[in-house]
Amino acid sequence: MRDVASLLPTRLCLGCHRDLPLDRFPPRRVGAAVRRGKCRQCLASYMRSYRAARRRKALGRVTAALARAERPSQAETLVADAFRRFGGASAFITELVGQYTAARHKNPGGRQAMNVLLALARLMELAEASRPKRDLGLLSDEDLQRQQEEAVLRMIAARPELALWAARKLDFLVVPSQTMFSQEADATASSARDLMATA
Ligand SMILES: [Zn+2]
Repeated sequence: MRDVASLLPTRLCLGCHRDLPLDRFPPRRVGAAVRRGKCRQCLASYMRSYRAARRRKALGRVTAALARAERPSQAETLVADAFRRFGGASAFITELVGQYTAARHKNPGGRQAMNVLLALARLMELAEASRPKRDLGLLSDEDLQRQQEEAVLRMIAARPELALWAARKLDFLVVPSQTMFSQEADATASSARDLMATA
């Protein structure tokens, strides 16, 4: 005797090519008789990758603009927009770190990975600069300058290829030590997160 399920109408999904019951295909519009060609599962995974691609593109624009920003005020505007767009500072940093990990995996020295690093360096500079004011009163201009340079140096420690950019930006010679090279970029990403949390 045939099983009841096998008597129900089915249809071939255009995504996963499985023969599935009709109710697994959502209607084109609420209440419409015409159903979509892909099953719910396929549509959900399509939407996930569609949204991820949009976030990747938006983040690419932000990091490229941040890397090009010449004045802190420019960077601050970009960052404020990005925070709004990505749903807060922590969501933005999480996205940034995630994209960096993916970009580094694909092409470690590529422009995509570099742009994320430069954006992180810029965020660290901003975070350092906006630390509690009581510290600023006690610090000399030289100390303040050194603190900002150290923030950028921590970035460079994790990714030595940043040295070129930093040398141009900070106008000083960078001499990496063995220990600097052995550090992991992941540590930098988390320290950038910490800095943003305290900012
Ligand atoms: Zn499917």
